[in-house]
Amino acid sequence: MTAFDTELLPVTPEALARAGALIRSGELVAFPTETVYGLGADALNADAVKRIFEAKGRPGDNPLIVHISALDQLRPLISVEPSEMARALMDACWPGPMTLIFPKSESVPLAVTAGLDTVAVRFPAHPAARALIDAARRPVAAPSANRSGRPSPTTAAHVLADMDGRIPMILDGGPCAVGLESTVIDMTGDVPRILRPGGITPEMISAVCGAARVDEAVMRPLKEGERPRSPGMKYRHYAPRGSLTVVQGDEAAVIARIKRLYDAAEGTPLILALEGHLPAYGDRRALSLGKDVAGMARALFDALRQADDLGADALFSEAVPADGLGLAVMNRLGRAAAFHIIEA
Ligand code: AMP
Ligand code: MG
Repeated sequence: MTAFDTELLPVTPEALARAGALIRSGELVAFPTETVYGLGADALNADAVKRIFEAKGRPGDNPLIVHISALDQLRPLISVEPSEMARALMDACWPGPMTLIFPKSESVPLAVTAGLDTVAVRFPAHPAARALIDAARRPVAAPSANRSGRPSPTTAAHVLADMDGRIPMILDGGPCAVGLESTVIDMTGDVPRILRPGGITPEMISAVCGAARVDEAVMRPLKEGERPRSPGMKYRHYAPRGSLTVVQGDEAAVIARIKRLYDAAEGTPLILALEGHLPAYGDRRALSLGKDVAGMARALFDALRQADDLGADALFSEAVPADGLGLAVMNRLGRAAAFHIIEA
């Protein structure tokens, strides 16, 4: 792999023009979106796309999402007319944190889809993401800009920590507004099937389409040898180095249980809790997960990275109810904990 002096640049017209030229020449650029930072390459250039897998250390069977900056860029990527439901979802949620899966057209290299005959497409809302795609003048394939297995990056500093020397450029657009990856919805069946929950919730999708199914792999570990519909749904995907236990139930009982677990833990324990609960944990070492579920979505990946930096051996996190955006939070927390979720 080539070594680079990685440039970290604020989003300016000059930086965007250079970033677009890098993408056109087959190189990689990390850029902000409203979900997490993406690691982009020319989606129509198989060699460029392969560089993404190299830079991330990403398994070759994990497909990428193709990002567009206008609705008319969708049709050339897919081999069918979008259904009425798909069009209704696009009207309601694009641009935004939603990825739709369709049968792919010939123009999408198999390197992008990891050999699948379907392609995942997203029209992001973040102005810098859209400006980069415009500057590149082609669709941009991008997974999250972390090293494979690490939490997705929600700041440019997270990207730099993982990608320094491995890519030529990072565009710094500040912290991400949603903080969790996009909702991935398979549109190839009769009913939209949520493969990965995110900022667009099952409730929002049902309201638009009349129905939505949440894939069963969202809230449980994969079985031995199971091939999930969404190949990225890997067991322990976001795992910190220390063991993580998620505690759910009544607020007071959760706090009491976490205190007992913390006090009995060996090594360096760490609590992840809602900001309003921090005083209840006294002197124990704790990180804030924000004020509410939306704050938790924004704070979670940074907290998991901080836990590693602090050398935490045993982490204890408060749960949130698994509905609305809480389903996405609990999906990531559950995965990070290898689904070690206990009742208080
Ligand atoms: P990332 O943005 O890094 O989380 O990676 C994109 C994720 O989108 C992958 O991990 C997959 O789970 C999902 N994905 C992309 N393309 C497809 C597809 N054709 N079918 C199912 N899931 C997909
Ligand atoms: Mg990822």
